Amino acid sequence: MSEHFDRLHALPEGFFGIGTANIRSLFPNPTLIQLDGRDQRFLFVSILLHGNEYTGLRVMQRVLAEHAHDLPRSILLFVGNVRATESNLRFLPDQVDYNRCWPGTLLSPGPTTKMMQRVIEIAHGQPLFAAIDIHNNTGRNPHYACITDPRAENQNLAAMFSRVGTVFNHRGVSTMAFDGICPAATLECGLPGDPAGIDNACHFIEQLLTLDALPTEPPPRETLHLVESHLSMEIPEQISFEFDLDADADLRFEPDIENRNFTLVDPHQVFGYTRVERPVLITDTDGHDVTDQVVRVEDGKIYLNNTMMPAMITRDKLVVRQDCLCHLMQDYLPNHEAEL
Ligand SMILES: [Zn+2]
Repeated sequence: MSEHFDRLHALPEGFFGIGTANIRSLFPNPTLIQLDGRDQRFLFVSILLHGNEYTGLRVMQRVLAEHAHDLPRSILLFVGNVRATESNLRFLPDQVDYNRCWPGTLLSPGPTTKMMQRVIEIAHGQPLFAAIDIHNNTGRNPHYACITDPRAENQNLAAMFSRVGTVFNHRGVSTMAFDGICPAATLECGLPGDPAGIDNACHFIEQLLTLDALPTEPPPRETLHLVESHLSMEIPEQISFEFDLDADADLRFEPDIENRNFTLVDPHQVFGYTRVERPVLITDTDGHDVTDQVVRVEDGKIYLNNTMMPAMITRDKLVVRQDCLCHLMQDYLPNHEAEL
């Protein structure tokens, strides 16, 4: 059976003032809202797929307060994990990650994967201009867009948001479900509620409401530095960890490790300290364990085997356990196979 979601054809009364703690007074369930505009090529926007990442709600409140009375372009707005939102969590213990269960997911079919399948069927049944999924990082990161298909239109979409963009292909993310259908990108807007992230995303969405078409030539490198993520670094459940070098833990990191986001770490820089043999688990996008190819442990110090760029490092321990410590990026090269 599919998880239930509501469908609306207008914004519910009270939309502009709703907060996260009381979101279910307006949206008791995930909700797909269709708003008709002058240009009927829809902009699909998903928000709150991760319940604690509320910038997308603020963005759509502001953009729609400005434009809903005379919308330049139709919008399909999907309000995602409202139960986790009211608890300020990425997802609840009894839930799956709402951004890992879209068509193409590695998860076995369940109520939430079926709901996303249905949402995508509805969206694909409409003329689509672009699909945007709005997120936050839990660690300190620059704002950037992620694309799963590096075609020129998507690169231009990413460049409209930030000068750094990432190519990622985690199975089951919403952006991937639109590949081949319309340009699609995930926006990472800094920490939840970061005013600069909200401003940047509002400006971006407003541009998409009036843009006629995206350029079909890829942007030059000065406009977009594209990196790609093939790898994520997880900490196995049984390994204790702290962001404090003096702590009594299996794995220890510098307290300011978030400053390494989007910087290059070479094979001679210490990434972390450990008293166990295999303190981290590195997986590629197919879920294969590639730990021993990517990192080495020498005298209790962890090193990368190749120069890479960590991104989305978080010090939020729950997020580390539910998702990962960070992703490891390299410059995007067309037809590039990951060099581990
Ligand atoms: Zn997210």
